[in-house]
Amino acid sequence: MNKIRIGIVGYGNIGRGVEAAIKQNEDCELAGVFTRRDPASVKISTEGAKVYAYDELASKKDDIDVCIICGGSATDLPKQTPEIAKLFNVIDSFDTHARIPEHFANVDAAAKESGHVGIISVGWDPGLFSLNRLYGNAILPQGKDYTFWGRGVSQGHSDAIRRVEGVLDARQYTVPVESAVEAVRNGENPDLTTRQKHTRECFVVAEEGADLARIESEIKNMPNYFADYDTTVTFITQEELDKNHKGIPHGGFVIRSGETGDGTNKHIIEYRLKLDSNPEFTSSVLVAYARAAKRLADEGACGCKTVFDIAPAYLSPKSGEELRAHLL
Ligand code: NAP
Repeated sequence: MNKIRIGIVGYGNIGRGVEAAIKQNEDCELAGVFTRRDPASVKISTEGAKVYAYDELASKKDDIDVCIICGGSATDLPKQTPEIAKLFNVIDSFDTHARIPEHFANVDAAAKESGHVGIISVGWDPGLFSLNRLYGNAILPQGKDYTFWGRGVSQGHSDAIRRVEGVLDARQYTVPVESAVEAVRNGENPDLTTRQKHTRECFVVAEEGADLARIESEIKNMPNYFADYDTTVTFITQEELDKNHKGIPHGGFVIRSGETGDGTNKHIIEYRLKLDSNPEFTSSVLVAYARAAKRLADEGACGCKTVFDIAPAYLSPKSGEELRAHLL
């Protein structure tokens, strides 16, 4: 069997997670890691595989089947994914929801021109959660959608706290409001405000002598991040943060609450994820979709796609025959 040769572009949390996921998939192998930093400064864990400079990627055209682009959504992926789609089949986990249409158009143009496949916004949200929202809507057109996130670490909110003057380090957890989740599960179809759906818990390490009341007030009133939520701020030491808050757990629920017939029969569809490591899980999803990209490319497909466009069987290393015999 020819293995699927995967290039990892960018070696942060997701890059490391993809490397770990490749080791769990026998039909995949690591073709190389590509970084914008000095390759000698980046240590990887796969024996025999190498780290290359980002600029060397173009010279590996014949050695890589799919590049998984592992940069950040804010500034890396909008540039890197279309650029690399000119040379390779690509997958990314772009998660700035409002900018997905624009990113799709850029990757689609590049991939169509070069005859490659691009699959964007792969992961759990966007990704598996998006699929479950689509299934719920299609199956129960008469109903309401709910997505709850957490309990989990939001990197963006943690970064925002670190930018407050006097803060040395911070971890922010997004927490779903239990009573709201229960009301949805009971089929009550509540209309929920932002504040009624989630709370935000902040664990903050402050500089010695810093004005804690000011820091707490600045966090709680920060527009877009915290002002619309019930937020708690707990000051802790760096040791406590390192000991108790270094993991990157996440997860959540997608619920579709609907009715059929004359409206007397209610139905709840619930999809739940509980993840010890957000990046390792996201990376496992990316590798499954890399398999799909290779298959689609082998069939002559090209252009940009999302999880909505990929048939489930393309994600599995098993044959159609095996899937029908054991999983159908
Ligand atoms: P990250 O750790 O910050 O890595 C992003 C990039 O920063 C890396 O590709 C790497 O590029 C560079 N980098 C990493 N460590 C560095 C260091 N020590 N010094 C200098 N540069 C470093 O971000 P991440 O946690 O992997 O997340 C990437 C993106 O995935 C996020 O922006 C998020 O949008 C997305 N995501 C999506 C989902 C989903 O469900 N769709 C879930 C989770 C995350 P170089 O190697 O080229 O320097």
